[in-house]
Amino acid sequence: MNTVGHLINGEIITEGTRSQNVFNPATGDATKQVDLASKATVEQAIAAAQAAYPAWRNTPAIKRARIMFKFKELLEKHADQICQMIGEEHGKIGHDAAGELQRGIENVEYACGAPELLKGEHSKNVGPSIDSWSEFQPLGVVAGITPFNFPAMVPLWMYPMALVCGNCFILKPSERDPSSTLFIAQLLREAGLPDGVMNVVNGDKEAVDTLLHDKRIQAVSFVGSTPIAEYIYSTATANGKRCQALGGAKNHAIVMPDADMDNAVNQLLGAAFGSSGERCMALSVAVAVGDVAADALIAKMTAAMKKLKVGAHSDNSNDFGPVITRQHQEKVVGYINSAEEQGARVVVDGRNPEVQGYANGFFVGGTLIDNVTPEMVSYQEEIFGPVLQVVRVETMQQAMDLIDGHEYGNGTCIFTRDGEAARYFSDNIQVGMVGINVPLPVPVAYHSFGGWKRSLFGDLHAYGPDAVRFYTKRKTVTQRWPSAGVREGAEFSMPTMK
Ligand code: NAD
Repeated sequence: MNTVGHLINGEIITEGTRSQNVFNPATGDATKQVDLASKATVEQAIAAAQAAYPAWRNTPAIKRARIMFKFKELLEKHADQICQMIGEEHGKIGHDAAGELQRGIENVEYACGAPELLKGEHSKNVGPSIDSWSEFQPLGVVAGITPFNFPAMVPLWMYPMALVCGNCFILKPSERDPSSTLFIAQLLREAGLPDGVMNVVNGDKEAVDTLLHDKRIQAVSFVGSTPIAEYIYSTATANGKRCQALGGAKNHAIVMPDADMDNAVNQLLGAAFGSSGERCMALSVAVAVGDVAADALIAKMTAAMKKLKVGAHSDNSNDFGPVITRQHQEKVVGYINSAEEQGARVVVDGRNPEVQGYANGFFVGGTLIDNVTPEMVSYQEEIFGPVLQVVRVETMQQAMDLIDGHEYGNGTCIFTRDGEAARYFSDNIQVGMVGINVPLPVPVAYHSFGGWKRSLFGDLHAYGPDAVRFYTKRKTVTQRWPSAGVREGAEFSMPTMK
């Protein structure tokens, strides 16, 4: 069985001490092993990054950007191979993997603008013959820790920008689907990146904890579940590091009585079940305002869900694939059971899907649950599976109160034809990313991505303009060249610009 190793100083290495299985979730078979880095291996990666830093820091931004232009070309050239790797280990269907990769590439495109993004601010004559400017300097060696659900895109949220800003990077990808992430990072060498600037360590808590405690790591970007995000944020900041830690979600869509119901159903289908609901922006709760809207939604959804196609990644006609592991499959089914036990009505039941030829795969079929209430465990927690729950309320304000009362605040959406209602909603709702008749309002690469409340710990959002600020520190320089003969005496009062 192949072992997925680590990329350190331009070389792939394996330790062979600790490892774990990587599965093909469609067949249920273990297909590879992934090496789990020890503290010593992570420290080797940090040392390589530290050694590469002085030269990389002083490489002109335009040269760093040119490597990204080449990197983008290589990502496009190898797209099919990358999507195949994603499919084999994550299970997402080819068309969905291609979408993920494209959204990742858009972050590389944004990073290509580094010379413009790093220009800084300049003020001439802030005082007599005094100029002042702010420049944005790299932090040094920074780290990223990423989840299984976007093995290509989420790492690409982080390191292209970190690198063009002049930092060196250590990536700790998800141990559940590591191959595409490692392959992509290797392309950087071909694109011209010097060895040691970008390193990948595969592993688990031991690798993460080493990164969190090592003084040479200046900043940590994390994306994953909320309990781990909170741990990462508190540990990294306690160790003096800058940190942004993006967590889990429970994204609600309000379905207003005046909504174009056919459109809402179509949008909800893709947003609830696409990628088996394993997206942090998945719409997992539909809040129907009024019973007329709720009944219409349930009826149309039930009919549409009959056509959902669940299967392996290799068949592009499938809508979505399996979930990531057997344990996760059991967890998702457990949430459906608990909703039923707590009084909800399972309208479309995906607990025992038949997927021909894949009897041992980790499949859960599309599931629709009506009459869900806020007390239910399945409402409070993130399911991360192909399950859409419907909550019935009487008014839009009740729907908004529900969303605001939830601990997560990643994304949300309203389906309506009423511009005034939509404007009130987007202005007041306590959620970081809002859609108006747009179910997955994932910001484009030149905006920034982040939730509110317990969906994000930290100040700056991921990628886009916030990433330029996250991966740099501001230095402000005030300069004067006193001309001969105009030298002032010592001044003891607070300097002002006379
Ligand atoms: P996870 O939290 O289990 O793992 C994320 C990373 O943390 C992995 O690299 C993993 O190895 C590491 N990790 C896990 N347990 C750890 C521990 N005890 N100590 C230190 N490190 C640990 O998340 P996941 O299951 O891979 O991904 C799914 C979760 O990620 C969902 O909750 C989803 O909502 C969230 N997510 C959020 C966003 C966002 O932008 N907000 C995006 C994608 C995914």
